[in-house]
Amino acid sequence: MFKKILIANRGEIALRIQRACRELGVRAVMVYSEADREAKYVKLAEEAVCIGPAPSAQSYLNMPAIISAAEVTDAEAIHPGYGFLSENAGFAERVEKSGFQFIGPTPESIRIMGDKVSAKQAMIKAGVPCVPGSEGELPDDPAQVRRIARTIGYPVIIKAAGGGGGRGMRVVHTEAALINAVQMTKAEAGAAFGNPAVYMEKFLQNPRHIEIQVLADKFRNAVYLGERDCSMQRRHQKIIEEAPAPGIARKLIERIGERCVAACKKIGYRGAGTFEFLYEDGEFYFIEMNTRVQVEHPVTELITGVDIVKTQIMVAAGEKLPFTQRQVQIRGHAMECRVNAEEPYTFVPSPGRITMWHPPGGPGVRVDSHVYTNYFVPPNYDSMIGKIIVHGDTRDQALARMRTALGETVVEGINTNIALHRELMVDAKFVGGGTNIHYLEEWLGHHKR
Ligand code: ADP
Repeated sequence: MFKKILIANRGEIALRIQRACRELGVRAVMVYSEADREAKYVKLAEEAVCIGPAPSAQSYLNMPAIISAAEVTDAEAIHPGYGFLSENAGFAERVEKSGFQFIGPTPESIRIMGDKVSAKQAMIKAGVPCVPGSEGELPDDPAQVRRIARTIGYPVIIKAAGGGGGRGMRVVHTEAALINAVQMTKAEAGAAFGNPAVYMEKFLQNPRHIEIQVLADKFRNAVYLGERDCSMQRRHQKIIEEAPAPGIARKLIERIGERCVAACKKIGYRGAGTFEFLYEDGEFYFIEMNTRVQVEHPVTELITGVDIVKTQIMVAAGEKLPFTQRQVQIRGHAMECRVNAEEPYTFVPSPGRITMWHPPGGPGVRVDSHVYTNYFVPPNYDSMIGKIIVHGDTRDQALARMRTALGETVVEGINTNIALHRELMVDAKFVGGGTNIHYLEEWLGHHKR
């Protein structure tokens, strides 16, 4: 096992990884920007290094600063968390070239999966079903693009090969709108992701977002830890996740989970990863793979008892996966609400000082958050300030626990989306289970304030 690792991230995930390190007896070096000097995990840290000013480009995305922080503190490995540099193959490469272990897959795996076009091609080869669409990147010739769209059938969705975070996508309903939409998405993708390549997929009308969590070691052992349903999204971004997915037969999950495990073995995947699918009419369609720990990993931890972050560190250190697929048991139901510092119905960010923070507690309640009373939410980063996660023997019990937990939570000084979560937890359709990815947007349209 490593003696010391550096955590190249901020916010709740930095604290989550720090906790895993403490359990493993590994020293954690925290890095922080000038805006995060007061963060809880920095105060709790045995060692912490300031890596630059508030803007992420100069701090959390600043590769030389992060690597020198690892050098001066004698860390052996770097955990990238999620977001920032976590899916940057160039960073993983620099980390390894500088003599540190990158806690994640190989730079090659990140590169293949980071480009959604090459990821889809790899999945087709590995026998994982994909959304019907263009074979690779769209050509420049408009006539050819029109032909591809006609073959797929409208509506189609134009997606950036390098896209992420719900950005770089455009739905097209008619041929008249097609070429303009392709050009706009290309221009945006070039500016936002430095890669103008786009591809086309059938736009599925009523799918659910179902994803499979995998863990793999360096010896080609791989397991899947069941699924998560992340269909409650706004602007293609998840806000509620749960596991297991209501109403999907175990047989179907097992079949797709086994495909994912086979794909991991085929591509030599190591570490934690997530295969994201759209699910419609009993079929799974791969959309992308995330080669890192995800925000919603706790719901899987609660139903399996597996510590995903600890296992990530263990396999990066060269240990074998400590359990087999047969030992993975699913127990009960878990649900997560992402708490964002934002106006609950318009999603306008609401940074500022938290004058009162009272998190919930009790049986089956877990809160992953780095904030505290008097904490200042900086305006520079993602608006998520924490996650409330509950576990119950049944989905009904999990829902009841979530309602109680949300009822107990007090956040003052800033706006949060807790009011929205409270409403959704008593919404008849959501309570019924199995809502699709468009449900929340439609709901928001009907509940305009
Ligand atoms: P990102 O990397 O930005 O998260 P994804 O490819 O994972 O992008 O897609 C994010 C979300 O966009 C999905 O969960 C789904 O809601 C929607 N989406 C993506 N592809 C399609 C599609 N072919 N049909 C319908 N919705 C889609």
